This record gives sequence, structure tokens and C-alpha cells, in this order.
Amino acid sequence: MLVVKKFGGTSVANKERIENVARRCVEEYKQGNQVIVVLSAMGKQTDVLLDMAKDINPNASRRELDMLLTTGEQTSVALMAMAIDALGVPAISLNAWQVAMNTTADYGNAKLKRIDTERIYNELENRKIVIITGFQGVNKYDDYTTLGRGGSDTTAVALAAALHADACEIYTDVDGVFTADPRVVPKARKLDVISYDEMLELASLGAGVLHNRSVEMAKKYGVQLVVRSSLNENEGTIVKEDNKMEKMLVSGVATDSNVVQIAVEGLENKPGVAFKLFRHLANHNVNVDMILQSVEHGGKQDISFTVTEEAAAEAIETVERHGETSLKCDNINVTRDVAKVSIVGAGMMSHAGVAARMFEALYDAGVNIRQISTSEIRVTVLVDEKYVEKAAQAIHDEFSL
Ligand code: ASP
Ligand code: MG
Repeated sequence: MLVVKKFGGTSVANKERIENVARRCVEEYKQGNQVIVVLSAMGKQTDVLLDMAKDINPNASRRELDMLLTTGEQTSVALMAMAIDALGVPAISLNAWQVAMNTTADYGNAKLKRIDTERIYNELENRKIVIITGFQGVNKYDDYTTLGRGGSDTTAVALAAALHADACEIYTDVDGVFTADPRVVPKARKLDVISYDEMLELASLGAGVLHNRSVEMAKKYGVQLVVRSSLNENEGTIVKEDNKMEKMLVSGVATDSNVVQIAVEGLENKPGVAFKLFRHLANHNVNVDMILQSVEHGGKQDISFTVTEEAAAEAIETVERHGETSLKCDNINVTRDVAKVSIVGAGMMSHAGVAARMFEALYDAGVNIRQISTSEIRVTVLVDEKYVEKAAQAIHDEFSL
């Protein structure tokens, strides 16, 4: 069996943790399996490196940032190879260059294009545990790139797909995917199974367990994932194609406070206004999330949308820059203390009234809804940040999660 095991930063945060992971990998190896290990940087190392960069030059180029950030993963893989070697098992660490992980050119957010598996197969044939840097890539200029924060999950899934692995295990510091963030909803419990689509909604909602591109890729290539803890032997959560029998009405409640609402008020009510606004934002690479357009009032209309806190400055600047000229709006209103609360469930598709139950639970809890958006398997509301816990708990209770 060929197994890809990915360990996140907390799982390799210090010597003891690295040795713990080394032992787990050796156990797998001793069962006669071929073992590929993908690692993140140790602990909060990526943040530490980013802070160092910011301190020395707040406008550091993305190329140099990637050059810096890739050292985090390079450190953890080399130490892991040493730890496994110390247990008497042959191991080799490889970085993105050595594996030939080809990506698109965009530094900081590159997409994997092709992985050359030859070197990996050679090392596996020599009965080595192969430890590969997560998060890294190499672009056509022979420069290092990174796959975006949390990108090591995507490296693991891509390797599992390219190597036709029998299992892809994502190890983290929690027991799996939960019905809600246990810090927000103490009653949250671990799910045994979740579908790719549900996971995708949860991941992009900031549930934080898996990089959403990793789930997209897993779905595309049919790689079944297991999310589990590196700190115990618990079973974890299986992420796979959804199975009609198991479809849950609502699988989980996701919360995300990393949201800023921007209202562009007093726009002309005529064709092309929304187009212009979002074209300007797209031109500045601002990812827009929830969008709300008001009904006309006095010949004018308002459009509000949400972005992440990181994108807010660029979004506000863009709207302000074009506000008077091409957009001709009266006012720009920014609200920072808002948060998203969402329910996700594949069973929603075939059941009416799920959204109504969610809204009723919010009403009963006295939480006002500022904005709503939906997909086939998700309903999201924007609420005041101070109500996040109350809202999530009320919804969690309503659906008896
Ligand atoms: N080390 C990178 C980060 O912190 C990638 C990862 O952990 O997946 O974002
Ligand atoms: Mg992660």
C-alpha cells in the first residue's frame, strides 16, 4: 500500500512532536507500506517569517517572500528525515525543486501544474520513507513559489493523486471535522464522514481544517481523505464523494469573523453599475464574497459586499478611487465587526424549509440578519460579530447536531 501522510505545523512544532510523527511514519513503514510524508513548517514558523519580512520591508516582493517562506518547510522535512533515520529507518527529504513540483508563476498563490514522480518512485523503490515539503512549488523561471496559506494540504492531495496512493491522511491537532468550531460551540462533535462538497463549503467558510483547493483537487481526482489527530489514535473524519444514504440535512455550522462589509451607497440605478464596481475590484484582485443589491430608492440603489479583513484595505481604496468618477456613488460605508454564520448540508438540496428553520433559530436568539447568501448546500447569514457564538449555538441546537 502507498500512503501519503501530511502533518500540519502543530504536529511538528517541536522536537517531541517531530519524534512522535517519525514514530508514526516508521510504524506505517514497518507494516510493509510505502510512505510519503508531507510536512508544513514547524508551529507558527510561517507567521514568524512573514513578521520578519514585514519588519525589514513592508513592501517586500512576492518572489522574495516565497524564497523566505519556503525555508520553513525545508527545515521541517530535513529534521524529520534525521528523526526517522535516528529510529533506524532510511529516509530522504525532498523539496519542491528536487521533486519537480511545477506551478504557475504567481508567487504567494501558485497553482500546481505537474509533478514529476520519477524521483519519488526511485526513492520508494530504495525502501526509503520520502519526506516532501508541503506548500512549495517551482515556476517556469526556476523560482520557488508557494501555494497560499495552508497549502500543504494541497501538496499532499496532489501527490496522492499523482502517485495513485491508496490512502491520503491529513494529520492535525484536532480529532477531525466537527459540526462546529468547538471554541464557539462547546457541544460540537466530530463527524465520521463528510462529502467533498460539504467540506468545500466548510473549508471556504473558514473552518480551517483543510485548504479548500486541496478538497477541490481531492474531489476532481477522487482522492479519499482522512482528517485525524497526530496526537492520538482516534479515527478521524473521512472526506469522500457523497453517498445518497448518508446525506445529512445539516452537517455543520461554520463561523467566520474574518469579514468586512463594504456598502456602496447611492449608486445610479442603471445597467452596468454592478459590472463596473466588480470589474474594478477584480482588476485589483479583490475576492468578493457575499453581495447584496438593495431595491431602488429615489432613483438610486446600494450595493454591499463582503471581503476578508486582509482584502479590505485594497477593496476600500479601489471603491474610493472610482467612487466619484466611474461609479458615481454618494457614500461608502465600512462595517468591520461583522461575521458569517453558515449551515452546510448535502441533504438541504432535497428538503424545503431548512433556511426557515435557521432564520427562526436566529430570531428566537434575538440575532438580527444583515445579509443572506445561499448555495445548493449552504445558507450563510451575516450578523454582528458579537452575536456569533449565540447564533451558532442556537442553530446547532435547532438542528440537533
Ligand atoms: N506553512 C504554510 C502555512 O502556514 C503552509 C501550511 O502550513 O500548509 O500557511
Ligand atoms: Mg492547515
